[in-house]
Amino acid sequence: MKVPATFSQLSSYKITDHTFDAVVVGAGGAGLRAAFGLVEKGFNTAVITKLFPTRSHTVAAQGGINAALGNMEPDDWRWHMYDTVKGSDWLGDQDAIHYMTREAPKAIIELENYGMPFSRTPEGKIYQRAFGGQSYNFGKGGQAHRCCAVADRTGHSLLHTLYGQSLRYDCKYFVEYFALDLIMEGGECVGVIALNLEDGTLHRFRSKNTVLATGGFGRAYFSCTSAHTCTGDGTAMVNRAGLPCSDLEFVQFHPTGIYGAGCLITEGSRGEGGFLVNSEGERFMERYAPVAKDLASRDVVSRAMTIEIREGRGVGPEKDHVFLQLHHLPAEQLALRLPGISETAMIFAGVDVTQDPIPVLPTVHYNMGGVPTNFRGQVITNINGKDKVVPGLYAAGETACASVHGANRLGANSLLDIVVFGRACANTIAEENEPGESIRELSANAGEASIANLDKLRYSDGSISTADLRLKMQKDMQTYAAVFRTGELLEKGCKKLQEDFNLLKDLK
Ligand SMILES: Cc1cc2nc3c(=O)[nH]c(=O)nc-3n(C[C@H](O)[C@H](O)[C@H](O)COP(=O)(O)OP(=O)(O)OC[C@H]3O[C@@H](n4cnc5c(N)ncnc54)[C@H](O)[C@@H]3O)c2cc1C
Repeated sequence: MKVPATFSQLSSYKITDHTFDAVVVGAGGAGLRAAFGLVEKGFNTAVITKLFPTRSHTVAAQGGINAALGNMEPDDWRWHMYDTVKGSDWLGDQDAIHYMTREAPKAIIELENYGMPFSRTPEGKIYQRAFGGQSYNFGKGGQAHRCCAVADRTGHSLLHTLYGQSLRYDCKYFVEYFALDLIMEGGECVGVIALNLEDGTLHRFRSKNTVLATGGFGRAYFSCTSAHTCTGDGTAMVNRAGLPCSDLEFVQFHPTGIYGAGCLITEGSRGEGGFLVNSEGERFMERYAPVAKDLASRDVVSRAMTIEIREGRGVGPEKDHVFLQLHHLPAEQLALRLPGISETAMIFAGVDVTQDPIPVLPTVHYNMGGVPTNFRGQVITNINGKDKVVPGLYAAGETACASVHGANRLGANSLLDIVVFGRACANTIAEENEPGESIRELSANAGEASIANLDKLRYSDGSISTADLRLKMQKDMQTYAAVFRTGELLEKGCKKLQEDFNLLKDLK
Protein backbone atom coordinates (compact mmCIF):
# COMPACT_ATOMS: atom_id res chain seq x y z
CA MET A 1 0.00 0.00 0.00
CA LYS A 2 1.24 3.48 -0.86
CA VAL A 3 2.15 5.67 2.12
CA PRO A 4 -0.10 8.74 2.25
CA ALA A 5 2.06 11.87 2.15
CA THR A 6 -0.27 14.63 3.27
CA PHE A 7 -3.10 15.02 5.72
CA SER A 8 -5.64 15.38 2.93
CA GLN A 9 -4.58 11.89 1.85
CA LEU A 10 -4.50 10.74 5.46
CA SER A 11 -8.00 12.01 5.97
CA SER A 12 -9.18 9.40 3.51
CA TYR A 13 -8.71 7.11 6.53
CA LYS A 14 -11.79 6.63 8.62
CA ILE A 15 -11.14 8.72 11.74
CA THR A 16 -13.81 8.55 14.41
CA ASP A 17 -14.08 11.50 16.79
CA HIS A 18 -15.21 11.16 20.41
CA THR A 19 -15.75 13.79 23.10
CA PHE A 20 -15.54 13.11 26.84
CA ASP A 21 -15.18 15.11 30.04
CA ALA A 22 -12.17 12.95 30.86
CA VAL A 23 -10.08 10.28 29.19
CA VAL A 24 -8.04 7.77 31.17
CA VAL A 25 -5.34 5.88 29.26
CA GLY A 26 -4.69 2.58 31.03
CA ALA A 27 -6.84 0.22 33.08
CA GLY A 28 -4.38 -1.15 35.63
CA GLY A 29 -4.79 -0.26 39.30
CA ALA A 30 -4.00 3.42 38.75
CA GLY A 31 -6.23 3.86 35.69
CA LEU A 32 -9.23 2.05 37.14
CA ARG A 33 -9.08 3.99 40.41
CA ALA A 34 -8.89 7.28 38.51
CA ALA A 35 -11.65 6.28 36.08
CA PHE A 36 -14.41 5.25 38.45
CA GLY A 37 -13.44 8.12 40.78
CA LEU A 38 -14.26 10.46 37.90
CA VAL A 39 -17.52 8.76 36.96
CA GLU A 40 -18.53 8.80 40.63
CA LYS A 41 -18.19 12.59 40.49
CA GLY A 42 -20.35 12.87 37.38
CA PHE A 43 -17.66 13.05 34.66
CA ASN A 44 -18.36 11.32 31.38
CA THR A 45 -15.18 9.22 31.24
CA ALA A 46 -13.54 7.07 28.58
CA VAL A 47 -11.03 4.37 29.53
CA ILE A 48 -8.68 3.49 26.68
CA THR A 49 -6.68 0.32 27.23
CA LYS A 50 -4.58 -1.85 24.97
CA LEU A 51 -5.32 -4.85 27.23
CA PHE A 52 -8.47 -6.15 28.80
CA PRO A 53 -8.38 -4.36 32.22
CA THR A 54 -7.79 -7.47 34.35
CA ARG A 55 -4.80 -8.45 32.20
CA SER A 56 -2.96 -5.30 33.23
CA HIS A 57 0.38 -5.84 34.90
CA THR A 58 -0.98 -4.96 38.36
CA VAL A 59 -2.36 -8.51 38.36
CA ALA A 60 1.19 -9.86 38.88
CA ALA A 61 1.95 -8.09 42.17
CA GLN A 62 2.35 -10.63 44.91
CA GLY A 63 3.66 -9.31 48.24
CA GLY A 64 1.20 -6.66 49.35
CA ILE A 65 0.36 -3.02 50.01
CA ASN A 66 1.71 -0.91 52.88
CA ALA A 67 -0.39 1.12 55.32
CA ALA A 68 0.12 2.00 58.97
CA LEU A 69 -3.10 0.36 60.17
CA GLY A 70 -1.46 -0.85 63.38
CA ASN A 71 -3.27 -4.19 63.31
CA MET A 72 -0.29 -6.24 64.52
CA GLU A 73 1.47 -3.72 66.79
CA PRO A 74 0.84 0.01 67.28
CA ASP A 75 1.82 1.93 64.15
CA ASP A 76 1.87 5.51 62.87
CA TRP A 77 1.77 6.85 59.29
CA ARG A 78 4.66 9.17 60.21
CA TRP A 79 6.85 6.09 60.77
CA HIS A 80 5.81 4.80 57.34
CA MET A 81 6.66 8.24 55.94
CA TYR A 82 10.10 8.16 57.61
CA ASP A 83 10.85 4.69 56.17
CA THR A 84 9.75 5.78 52.69
CA VAL A 85 11.88 8.94 52.76
CA LYS A 86 14.87 6.90 53.97
CA GLY A 87 14.18 4.06 51.52
CA SER A 88 14.12 6.56 48.66
CA ASP A 89 17.79 7.28 49.44
CA TRP A 90 16.55 10.66 50.70
CA LEU A 91 15.70 11.65 47.12
CA GLY A 92 11.92 11.30 47.30
CA ASP A 93 9.54 14.28 47.31
CA GLN A 94 8.59 14.63 50.97
CA ASP A 95 5.26 16.41 50.29
CA ALA A 96 4.16 13.56 48.05
CA ILE A 97 5.40 10.90 50.52
CA HIS A 98 3.60 12.72 53.33
CA TYR A 99 0.37 12.65 51.31
CA MET A 100 0.70 8.99 50.27
CA THR A 101 1.54 7.55 53.69
CA ARG A 102 -1.10 9.64 55.47
CA GLU A 103 -3.75 8.55 52.96
CA ALA A 104 -2.67 4.88 53.09
CA PRO A 105 -4.89 3.60 55.94
CA LYS A 106 -7.95 5.27 54.34
CA ALA A 107 -7.07 3.72 50.98
CA ILE A 108 -6.92 0.22 52.52
CA ILE A 109 -10.25 0.62 54.30
CA GLU A 110 -11.72 1.88 51.03
CA LEU A 111 -10.42 -1.25 49.23
CA GLU A 112 -11.83 -3.43 51.98
CA ASN A 113 -15.20 -1.73 51.59
CA TYR A 114 -15.03 -2.41 47.85
CA GLY A 115 -14.76 -6.10 48.77
CA MET A 116 -11.03 -6.83 48.54
CA PRO A 117 -10.58 -10.14 50.39
CA PHE A 118 -7.57 -9.30 52.58
CA SER A 119 -5.88 -12.07 54.58
CA ARG A 120 -7.00 -11.92 58.20
CA THR A 121 -5.60 -12.23 61.72
CA PRO A 122 -7.30 -14.76 64.04
CA GLU A 123 -9.35 -11.84 65.46
CA GLY A 124 -10.57 -10.95 61.98
CA LYS A 125 -8.46 -7.83 61.40
CA ILE A 126 -6.58 -7.24 58.14
CA TYR A 127 -3.37 -9.29 58.46
CA GLN A 128 -0.11 -7.34 57.97
CA ARG A 129 3.21 -8.98 57.19
CA ALA A 130 6.81 -7.84 57.58
CA PHE A 131 8.43 -6.35 54.47
CA GLY A 132 11.85 -4.91 53.71
CA GLY A 133 12.65 -1.37 54.84
CA GLN A 134 9.68 -1.02 57.21
CA SER A 135 10.27 -0.06 60.86
CA TYR A 136 8.49 1.35 63.90
CA ASN A 137 9.31 4.56 65.74
CA PHE A 138 11.45 6.26 63.09
CA GLY A 139 13.77 3.31 62.62
CA LYS A 140 14.27 2.64 66.33
CA GLY A 141 11.41 0.20 66.97
CA GLY A 142 12.51 -2.84 64.95
CA GLN A 143 10.85 -4.54 61.98
CA ALA A 144 7.31 -3.30 61.27
CA HIS A 145 4.35 -5.45 60.18
CA ARG A 146 2.73 -2.96 57.82
CA CYS A 147 2.14 -4.82 54.58
CA CYS A 148 -1.51 -5.81 53.98
CA ALA A 149 -1.81 -8.82 51.68
CA VAL A 150 -4.16 -11.23 50.01
CA ALA A 151 -1.94 -14.31 50.43
CA ASP A 152 0.67 -13.98 47.65
CA ARG A 153 -1.87 -12.73 45.11
CA THR A 154 -2.44 -9.16 46.29
CA GLY A 155 -2.23 -7.49 42.87
CA HIS A 156 -4.60 -10.02 41.33
CA SER A 157 -7.11 -9.39 44.04
CA LEU A 158 -6.70 -5.61 43.95
CA LEU A 159 -7.11 -5.38 40.19
CA HIS A 160 -10.20 -7.60 40.14
CA THR A 161 -11.72 -5.65 43.04
CA LEU A 162 -11.17 -2.32 41.26
CA TYR A 163 -12.47 -3.66 37.94
CA GLY A 164 -15.55 -5.07 39.65
CA GLN A 165 -16.08 -1.72 41.33
CA SER A 166 -15.67 0.14 38.04
CA LEU A 167 -18.54 -1.89 36.59
CA ARG A 168 -20.85 -0.32 39.16
CA TYR A 169 -20.18 2.98 37.40
CA ASP A 170 -20.64 3.95 33.81
CA CYS A 171 -17.04 4.02 32.62
CA LYS A 172 -16.94 3.89 28.80
CA TYR A 173 -14.38 1.23 27.99
CA PHE A 174 -12.38 1.20 24.76
CA VAL A 175 -10.68 -2.15 25.17
CA GLU A 176 -7.81 -3.11 22.85
CA TYR A 177 -7.44 0.46 21.73
CA PHE A 178 -3.80 1.50 21.55
CA ALA A 179 -3.19 5.16 22.44
CA LEU A 180 -0.63 6.54 20.00
CA ASP A 181 -0.09 10.13 21.07
CA LEU A 182 -1.34 13.01 23.16
CA ILE A 183 -3.05 15.77 21.25
CA MET A 184 -1.42 19.00 22.40
CA GLU A 185 -2.66 22.42 21.33
CA GLY A 186 -1.24 25.71 22.60
CA GLY A 187 0.64 23.94 25.38
CA GLU A 188 -2.52 22.20 26.64
CA CYS A 189 -3.40 18.54 26.42
CA VAL A 190 -6.75 18.26 24.63
CA GLY A 191 -7.00 14.49 24.22
CA VAL A 192 -5.36 11.48 22.62
CA ILE A 193 -5.31 9.68 19.32
CA ALA A 194 -5.71 5.90 19.37
CA LEU A 195 -5.69 2.89 17.08
CA ASN A 196 -8.39 0.24 17.41
CA LEU A 197 -6.33 -2.97 17.38
CA GLU A 198 -9.26 -5.07 16.24
CA ASP A 199 -10.09 -3.29 13.00
CA GLY A 200 -7.26 -0.79 12.48
CA THR A 201 -9.52 2.28 12.65
CA LEU A 202 -8.21 5.53 14.08
CA HIS A 203 -9.95 7.41 16.89
CA ARG A 204 -9.53 10.95 18.18
CA PHE A 205 -10.60 11.46 21.79
CA ARG A 206 -11.22 15.11 22.58
CA SER A 207 -11.19 15.91 26.26
CA LYS A 208 -10.30 18.69 28.67
CA ASN A 209 -8.73 16.16 31.04
CA THR A 210 -6.41 13.29 30.10
CA VAL A 211 -5.00 10.91 32.70
CA LEU A 212 -2.01 8.74 31.76
CA ALA A 213 -1.87 5.46 33.69
CA THR A 214 0.06 3.30 31.24
CA GLY A 215 2.44 1.52 33.66
CA GLY A 216 6.21 1.11 33.60
CA PHE A 217 8.85 0.61 30.90
CA GLY A 218 10.58 -2.53 32.17
CA ARG A 219 10.55 -3.94 28.65
CA ALA A 220 13.09 -1.37 27.49
CA TYR A 221 15.49 -3.92 29.01
CA PHE A 222 16.34 -7.47 27.96
CA SER A 223 15.44 -8.96 31.30
CA CYS A 224 12.60 -7.67 33.45
CA THR A 225 10.02 -9.10 35.82
CA SER A 226 7.19 -7.12 34.26
CA ALA A 227 4.78 -8.13 31.52
CA HIS A 228 5.61 -7.85 27.80
CA THR A 229 3.10 -5.01 27.69
CA CYS A 230 5.13 -2.76 30.02
CA THR A 231 6.64 -0.75 27.20
CA GLY A 232 6.51 2.79 28.60
CA ASP A 233 3.96 4.07 26.09
CA GLY A 234 2.86 6.96 28.33
CA THR A 235 6.42 8.07 28.92
CA ALA A 236 7.05 7.97 25.18
CA MET A 237 3.87 9.92 24.39
CA VAL A 238 4.91 12.62 26.83
CA ASN A 239 8.37 12.83 25.28
CA ARG A 240 6.95 12.98 21.77
CA ALA A 241 4.75 15.85 22.96
CA GLY A 242 7.97 17.72 23.82
CA LEU A 243 7.53 17.39 27.58
CA PRO A 244 10.27 16.12 29.89
CA CYS A 245 10.26 13.01 32.09
CA SER A 246 12.08 12.81 35.39
CA ASP A 247 14.27 10.35 37.32
CA LEU A 248 14.34 7.84 34.46
CA GLU A 249 17.74 6.66 35.67
CA PHE A 250 16.20 5.28 38.87
CA VAL A 251 15.49 1.71 37.84
CA GLN A 252 15.17 -1.02 40.48
CA PHE A 253 16.84 -4.38 39.84
CA HIS A 254 15.92 -7.66 41.48
CA PRO A 255 18.88 -10.11 41.55
CA THR A 256 17.08 -13.25 40.45
CA GLY A 257 14.97 -12.98 37.35
CA ILE A 258 15.00 -16.04 35.06
CA TYR A 259 17.46 -15.42 32.20
CA GLY A 260 15.55 -14.60 29.02
CA ALA A 261 12.07 -14.86 30.53
CA GLY A 262 12.61 -12.40 33.38
CA CYS A 263 10.11 -14.05 35.74
CA LEU A 264 10.82 -13.38 39.36
CA ILE A 265 12.45 -16.06 41.51
CA THR A 266 11.74 -14.95 45.05
CA GLU A 267 14.42 -14.20 47.62
CA GLY A 268 12.77 -17.01 49.57
CA SER A 269 14.66 -19.51 47.39
CA ARG A 270 17.93 -18.20 48.79
CA GLY A 271 16.29 -18.04 52.21
CA GLU A 272 15.72 -21.80 51.94
CA GLY A 273 19.44 -22.36 51.32
CA GLY A 274 19.81 -21.79 47.57
CA PHE A 275 22.93 -19.97 46.37
CA LEU A 276 24.41 -18.33 43.30
CA VAL A 277 27.32 -19.85 41.37
CA ASN A 278 29.53 -18.61 38.52
CA SER A 279 31.06 -20.47 35.55
CA GLU A 280 33.82 -21.80 37.82
CA GLY A 281 31.28 -23.36 40.13
CA GLU A 282 32.26 -20.85 42.80
CA ARG A 283 29.76 -19.64 45.39
CA PHE A 284 30.84 -16.08 44.72
CA MET A 285 28.64 -14.17 47.20
CA GLU A 286 30.96 -15.38 49.96
CA ARG A 287 33.56 -12.95 48.57
CA TYR A 288 31.23 -9.95 48.33
CA ALA A 289 29.22 -10.33 51.55
CA PRO A 290 31.03 -12.77 53.87
CA VAL A 291 28.31 -12.63 56.55
CA ALA A 292 24.99 -12.28 54.71
CA LYS A 293 26.31 -14.09 51.59
CA ASP A 294 23.41 -14.84 49.21
CA LEU A 295 20.96 -13.06 51.49
CA ALA A 296 22.67 -9.68 51.24
CA SER A 297 20.36 -6.85 50.12
CA ARG A 298 19.06 -6.75 46.52
CA ASP A 299 21.43 -4.03 45.34
CA VAL A 300 24.51 -5.80 46.83
CA VAL A 301 23.68 -9.15 45.21
CA SER A 302 22.79 -7.53 41.87
CA ARG A 303 26.12 -5.67 41.81
CA ALA A 304 28.10 -8.82 42.69
CA MET A 305 26.41 -10.82 39.90
CA THR A 306 27.14 -8.07 37.41
CA ILE A 307 30.83 -7.96 38.37
CA GLU A 308 31.09 -11.73 37.92
CA ILE A 309 29.55 -11.49 34.45
CA ARG A 310 31.66 -8.49 33.45
CA GLU A 311 34.86 -10.22 34.58
CA GLY A 312 34.11 -13.20 32.36
CA ARG A 313 32.78 -15.65 34.94
CA GLY A 314 29.23 -15.68 33.62
CA VAL A 315 27.64 -18.89 32.35
CA GLY A 316 25.96 -19.86 29.07
CA PRO A 317 27.16 -19.45 25.47
CA GLU A 318 27.33 -15.66 25.86
CA LYS A 319 28.59 -15.85 29.48
CA ASP A 320 25.93 -13.30 30.30
CA HIS A 321 24.18 -14.74 33.36
CA VAL A 322 24.87 -16.88 36.47
CA PHE A 323 23.22 -19.90 38.08
CA LEU A 324 20.98 -20.14 41.10
CA GLN A 325 21.56 -23.58 42.56
CA LEU A 326 18.82 -25.33 44.52
CA HIS A 327 19.45 -28.98 43.67
CA HIS A 328 21.67 -29.55 46.74
CA LEU A 329 18.50 -29.07 48.82
CA PRO A 330 16.34 -32.12 49.62
CA ALA A 331 13.62 -32.65 46.99
CA GLU A 332 10.98 -32.78 49.76
CA GLN A 333 12.07 -29.35 50.99
CA LEU A 334 11.79 -27.92 47.47
CA ALA A 335 8.34 -29.42 47.03
CA LEU A 336 7.15 -28.18 50.41
CA ARG A 337 8.68 -24.71 50.57
CA LEU A 338 9.20 -23.67 46.94
CA PRO A 339 6.49 -25.33 44.86
CA GLY A 340 5.70 -22.16 42.88
CA ILE A 341 9.37 -21.52 42.11
CA SER A 342 9.88 -25.14 41.03
CA GLU A 343 6.94 -24.77 38.64
CA THR A 344 8.08 -21.38 37.32
CA ALA A 345 11.61 -22.68 36.69
CA MET A 346 10.23 -25.66 34.74
CA ILE A 347 7.83 -23.58 32.64
CA PHE A 348 10.08 -20.61 31.88
CA ALA A 349 13.59 -22.13 31.92
CA GLY A 350 12.83 -25.82 31.30
CA VAL A 351 14.74 -26.59 34.50
CA ASP A 352 13.97 -29.32 37.02
CA VAL A 353 15.24 -27.63 40.17
CA THR A 354 15.93 -31.00 41.83
CA GLN A 355 18.50 -31.72 39.09
CA ASP A 356 19.79 -28.48 37.55
CA PRO A 357 20.51 -24.84 38.44
CA ILE A 358 18.27 -22.00 37.26
CA PRO A 359 19.87 -19.43 34.89
CA VAL A 360 19.35 -16.00 36.45
CA LEU A 361 20.22 -12.37 35.82
CA PRO A 362 19.70 -9.10 37.75
CA THR A 363 16.39 -8.11 36.35
CA VAL A 364 14.59 -4.83 35.99
CA HIS A 365 11.76 -4.80 38.50
CA TYR A 366 10.39 -1.25 38.81
CA ASN A 367 10.72 2.22 37.28
CA MET A 368 10.87 4.93 39.90
CA GLY A 369 11.02 7.66 37.24
CA GLY A 370 8.43 8.70 34.69
CA VAL A 371 6.05 11.52 33.88
CA PRO A 372 6.64 14.20 36.54
CA THR A 373 3.61 15.09 38.66
CA ASN A 374 2.84 16.94 41.85
CA PHE A 375 1.02 15.13 44.66
CA ARG A 376 -2.33 16.08 43.08
CA GLY A 377 -1.57 14.05 39.95
CA GLN A 378 -1.04 17.11 37.71
CA VAL A 379 1.78 16.76 35.20
CA ILE A 380 4.39 19.43 35.80
CA THR A 381 7.37 20.88 34.04
CA ASN A 382 10.08 22.70 35.86
CA ILE A 383 11.01 25.98 34.25
CA ASN A 384 13.82 28.00 35.85
CA GLY A 385 13.38 26.06 39.09
CA LYS A 386 9.60 26.69 39.22
CA ASP A 387 7.00 23.95 38.76
CA LYS A 388 4.45 24.71 36.06
CA VAL A 389 1.32 22.59 35.57
CA VAL A 390 0.64 21.27 32.03
CA PRO A 391 -3.07 22.11 31.58
CA GLY A 392 -5.29 19.11 30.94
CA LEU A 393 -2.70 16.42 31.65
CA TYR A 394 -2.49 14.11 34.68
CA ALA A 395 -0.57 10.92 35.42
CA ALA A 396 -0.65 8.18 38.05
CA GLY A 397 0.94 4.82 38.79
CA GLU A 398 4.20 3.42 37.51
CA THR A 399 4.19 5.69 34.45
CA ALA A 400 4.15 8.72 36.73
CA CYS A 401 6.81 10.15 38.95
CA ALA A 402 5.24 11.92 41.91
CA SER A 403 8.64 11.02 43.31
CA VAL A 404 7.33 9.03 46.26
CA HIS A 405 9.99 6.38 45.62
CA GLY A 406 12.98 8.67 44.97
CA ALA A 407 15.89 6.49 43.90
CA ASN A 408 14.55 3.22 45.33
CA ARG A 409 11.02 1.95 45.86
CA LEU A 410 10.25 0.04 49.03
CA GLY A 411 8.41 -3.24 48.44
CA ALA A 412 4.60 -2.87 48.73
CA ASN A 413 4.65 0.91 48.25
CA SER A 414 3.72 0.75 44.58
CA LEU A 415 0.25 -0.76 44.95
CA LEU A 416 -0.30 2.00 47.47
CA ASP A 417 0.99 4.63 45.02
CA ILE A 418 -1.42 3.48 42.28
CA VAL A 419 -4.58 3.66 44.38
CA VAL A 420 -3.66 6.88 46.21
CA PHE A 421 -2.56 8.82 43.12
CA GLY A 422 -5.21 7.32 40.83
CA ARG A 423 -7.77 8.72 43.25
CA ALA A 424 -5.84 12.02 43.55
CA CYS A 425 -6.16 12.55 39.78
CA ALA A 426 -9.95 12.08 39.96
CA ASN A 427 -10.21 14.41 42.95
CA THR A 428 -8.10 17.15 41.35
CA ILE A 429 -10.05 17.04 38.08
CA ALA A 430 -13.30 17.24 40.02
CA GLU A 431 -12.04 20.18 42.07
CA GLU A 432 -11.02 22.19 39.01
CA ASN A 433 -13.66 21.26 36.41
CA GLU A 434 -17.38 20.76 36.03
CA PRO A 435 -18.91 17.71 34.36
CA GLY A 436 -20.29 18.59 30.92
CA GLU A 437 -18.22 21.77 30.52
CA SER A 438 -17.80 22.94 26.93
CA ILE A 439 -14.57 21.78 25.32
CA ARG A 440 -12.71 23.65 22.64
CA GLU A 441 -12.77 22.33 19.08
CA LEU A 442 -9.68 20.53 17.87
CA SER A 443 -7.78 22.14 15.04
CA ALA A 444 -8.40 20.51 11.67
CA ASN A 445 -5.03 18.75 11.57
CA ALA A 446 -5.02 17.50 15.18
CA GLY A 447 -3.30 14.12 15.20
CA GLU A 448 -1.90 14.42 11.68
CA ALA A 449 1.71 13.99 12.76
CA SER A 450 0.89 10.85 14.79
CA ILE A 451 -0.88 9.18 11.89
CA ALA A 452 1.94 10.08 9.51
CA ASN A 453 4.39 8.59 12.01
CA LEU A 454 2.30 5.44 12.34
CA ASP A 455 2.15 5.06 8.58
CA LYS A 456 5.87 5.57 8.19
CA LEU A 457 6.37 2.57 10.50
CA ARG A 458 3.48 0.49 9.14
CA TYR A 459 4.50 0.77 5.51
CA SER A 460 8.29 0.84 5.81
CA ASP A 461 10.21 -1.64 3.63
CA GLY A 462 13.73 -1.64 5.10
CA SER A 463 15.88 -4.57 6.17
CA ILE A 464 15.57 -4.93 9.96
CA SER A 465 12.50 -6.36 11.69
CA THR A 466 10.88 -4.57 14.63
CA ALA A 467 11.56 -7.62 16.82
CA ASP A 468 15.28 -7.61 15.97
CA LEU A 469 15.64 -3.89 16.53
CA ARG A 470 13.78 -4.13 19.83
CA LEU A 471 16.03 -6.97 20.97
CA LYS A 472 19.11 -4.94 20.05
CA MET A 473 17.87 -1.98 22.09
CA GLN A 474 16.96 -4.24 25.03
CA LYS A 475 20.41 -5.85 25.04
CA ASP A 476 22.12 -2.45 24.80
CA MET A 477 20.07 -1.17 27.73
CA GLN A 478 20.95 -4.29 29.72
CA THR A 479 24.67 -3.84 28.98
CA TYR A 480 25.07 -0.09 29.23
CA ALA A 481 22.33 1.12 31.59
CA ALA A 482 22.00 -1.70 34.07
CA VAL A 483 23.21 -2.16 37.61
CA PHE A 484 26.47 -0.20 37.21
CA ARG A 485 26.42 3.07 35.32
CA THR A 486 29.73 4.85 35.06
CA GLY A 487 30.07 7.95 32.90
CA GLU A 488 32.18 6.03 30.40
CA LEU A 489 29.68 3.18 30.13
CA LEU A 490 26.74 5.53 29.75
CA GLU A 491 28.52 7.46 27.00
CA LYS A 492 29.05 4.21 25.10
CA GLY A 493 25.42 3.32 25.78
CA CYS A 494 24.21 6.65 24.37
CA LYS A 495 26.13 6.00 21.16
CA LYS A 496 24.70 2.48 20.92
CA LEU A 497 21.15 3.69 21.48
CA GLN A 498 21.60 6.46 18.92
CA GLU A 499 22.67 3.76 16.43
CA ASP A 500 19.59 1.72 17.37
CA PHE A 501 17.40 4.78 16.94
CA ASN A 502 18.87 5.49 13.51
CA LEU A 503 17.91 1.96 12.46
CA LEU A 504 14.24 2.94 12.80
CA LYS A 505 14.59 4.36 9.28
CA ASP A 506 15.44 0.88 8.06
CA LEU A 507 12.53 -1.08 9.54
CA LYS A 508 11.10 -3.91 7.48
C1 LIG B 1 6.58 -9.46 39.55
C2 LIG B 1 6.15 -8.18 40.21
C3 LIG B 1 5.65 -8.20 41.49
C4 LIG B 1 5.26 -7.01 42.13
N1 LIG B 1 4.77 -7.05 43.40
C5 LIG B 1 4.41 -5.89 44.01
C6 LIG B 1 3.91 -5.92 45.34
O1 LIG B 1 3.78 -6.97 45.97
N2 LIG B 1 3.56 -4.74 45.91
C7 LIG B 1 3.68 -3.54 45.27
O2 LIG B 1 3.36 -2.51 45.86
N3 LIG B 1 4.13 -3.49 44.00
C8 LIG B 1 4.50 -4.63 43.36
N4 LIG B 1 4.96 -4.58 42.07
C9 LIG B 1 4.86 -3.31 41.33
C10 LIG B 1 3.41 -3.04 40.88
O3 LIG B 1 2.78 -4.26 40.55
C11 LIG B 1 3.29 -2.10 39.67
O4 LIG B 1 4.15 -1.01 39.83
C12 LIG B 1 1.85 -1.57 39.51
O5 LIG B 1 0.94 -2.64 39.51
C13 LIG B 1 1.68 -0.73 38.25
O6 LIG B 1 0.30 -0.40 38.09
P1 LIG B 1 -0.20 0.65 36.99
O7 LIG B 1 -1.66 0.81 37.16
O8 LIG B 1 0.65 1.87 37.05
O9 LIG B 1 0.14 -0.04 35.60
P2 LIG B 1 -0.29 -1.44 34.93
O10 LIG B 1 -0.98 -2.34 35.89
O11 LIG B 1 0.93 -1.93 34.23
O12 LIG B 1 -1.38 -1.01 33.86
C14 LIG B 1 -1.03 -0.30 32.69
C15 LIG B 1 -2.28 -0.11 31.85
O13 LIG B 1 -1.98 0.76 30.77
C16 LIG B 1 -2.52 0.25 29.57
N5 LIG B 1 -1.69 0.77 28.47
C17 LIG B 1 -0.35 0.86 28.39
N6 LIG B 1 0.03 1.43 27.23
C18 LIG B 1 -1.10 1.73 26.57
C19 LIG B 1 -1.38 2.34 25.31
N7 LIG B 1 -0.43 2.76 24.48
N8 LIG B 1 -2.67 2.48 24.94
C20 LIG B 1 -3.67 2.04 25.73
N9 LIG B 1 -3.47 1.46 26.93
C21 LIG B 1 -2.20 1.31 27.35
C22 LIG B 1 -2.49 -1.26 29.72
O14 LIG B 1 -3.48 -1.85 28.91
C23 LIG B 1 -2.83 -1.40 31.22
O15 LIG B 1 -4.23 -1.43 31.38
C24 LIG B 1 5.38 -5.77 41.45
C25 LIG B 1 5.90 -5.75 40.16
C26 LIG B 1 6.30 -6.94 39.56
C27 LIG B 1 6.90 -6.86 38.19
